[in-house]
Amino acid sequence: MSTQVKHYIDGEFVNGSGSKQINVTNPANNETIAFINCATQPEVERAIASAKEAFKSWKEVAVSERARVMLRYQHLLKEHHDELATILAQETGKTFEDAKGDVWRGIEVAEHACNIASLLMGETVENVARSIDTYSYTQPLGVCAGITPFNFPAMIPLWMFPLAIACGNTFVLKPSEQDPMTPQRLVELFEQAGAPKGVLQLVHGDKTAVDVLLSHPDIKAISFVGSVGVGQYIYKTGTDNLKRVQAFAGAKNHCVIMPDANKQQVINNLVGASVGAAGQRCMALSVAVFVGAAKEWIPELKEALSKVRPGLWDDKEAGYGPLISPAAKERVLKLIAEGKAEGAECLLDGSDCTVPGYESGNWVGPTMFDKVTTDMSIYKEEIFGPVLCCMEAESLEDAIELVNASPYGNGTSIFTASGATARKYQHEIEVGQVGINVPIPVPLPFFSFTGWKGSFYGDQHAYGKQAVRFYTETKTITSRWFESDIASGPNMTIALK
Ligand code: NAD
Repeated sequence: MSTQVKHYIDGEFVNGSGSKQINVTNPANNETIAFINCATQPEVERAIASAKEAFKSWKEVAVSERARVMLRYQHLLKEHHDELATILAQETGKTFEDAKGDVWRGIEVAEHACNIASLLMGETVENVARSIDTYSYTQPLGVCAGITPFNFPAMIPLWMFPLAIACGNTFVLKPSEQDPMTPQRLVELFEQAGAPKGVLQLVHGDKTAVDVLLSHPDIKAISFVGSVGVGQYIYKTGTDNLKRVQAFAGAKNHCVIMPDANKQQVINNLVGASVGAAGQRCMALSVAVFVGAAKEWIPELKEALSKVRPGLWDDKEAGYGPLISPAAKERVLKLIAEGKAEGAECLLDGSDCTVPGYESGNWVGPTMFDKVTTDMSIYKEEIFGPVLCCMEAESLEDAIELVNASPYGNGTSIFTASGATARKYQHEIEVGQVGINVPIPVPLPFFSFTGWKGSFYGDQHAYGKQAVRFYTETKTITSRWFESDIASGPNMTIALK
């Protein structure tokens, strides 16, 4: 029997009254393991109203007390780390190691939120004019909302609500309907950490719930992570409704391989970064650009990739798990077929892949194309599957030109033994997160997650100082006190009486 995943509205876990039900399935066999009743418009409105009410008192709670809630929360997350990773692995199909990484990267943001007092510090200048001082405070916005994707059901919600709430806001989370069990557990632990009623709300559902958040006048800011089309819709609609919006979208990340790089490191790193997590990462390396003689390593890369096999979440030998849904698998298979039809050389074809006993799962084997060109759909579209596209460039300059012509700008890596080459690449590349001999350069939470171009719509990015700016308003105060007004002598005596 499948369990019902609950909403958390006004301090209570509730089933919801919506008539639309969405099943949560085990991607390894597509059996239903849980379900949600999609939140109705009145339910989302009730969550927003409760968050608005809670904001009145939460914003007045001392910053050190808000930090203490985060301290208890990060402690609870660590205590329940493996349990969270197990829930996550079961509903996403990720391997246990990968699931643990998903949880851990989220915990790191919750840890960062413990430092909120220092992050909120404003600025001061004394004597901007005679007897006049100017200083600024950062104050919370009100009710903020988060809409998150399926591929990191722990990390991405944790990018958002701990920092937003530590800043003094209240928060409504609408996680992916495909894996809502992990977010439910994150919210239960937040309640256990002592967060007052109403500070965090959880509503499950689809576009209906999102549209209420996008249009409701009491939602002040929206954080979104997901696909390009939906990201553009969220950004346009949210800003049309005069909200602050940060929307992280899809990607196509290039890795440039110079002939002076360490070959074995390149191969090991590319295998993990391209097909790891079944390629369902916004920072996956999905395009490898071999410069000059580096192309001679393609056969060895193929050999290494062919040894990776997908498997169940608790199979320690599995390189990665199934894709999230039959629809995701169908989309990836369609793109693989298009790649072949458009003339790319398919060196490894994972289209016909299965795992014994789990034949109905959403499996796709490691797939590798060579001779990919920029006009092919496998190059233009984010595949979001275990597929690596190989290309060749004659020089570093050509490789830079190729990467900069991409509409996306989430992440990129260069493998080289030359500091000068790396320096030129990091300086000239129009991508927001650059790895030098590092395949997936996701910054830790004291920096921010700084995707560019078509991978991000907005101004302030996720976590770090930028998130604190996103979730706060700056108030600048200019004050003048006249020295002549200081009470002294007989006047002071009067004042003291
Ligand atoms: P998605 O866009 O389908 O869904 C994301 C969220 O939007 C979900 O909560 C979903 O319910 C909601 N949604 C879906 N369709 C909607 C619509 N028409 N109107 C309103 N809301 C809608 O994304 P996904 O498939 O869950 O996640 C994968 C995508 O997320 C990939 O493109 C990946 O690159 C991207 N992603 C980006 C980053 C980043 O930091 N740039 C990080 C992780 C994932």
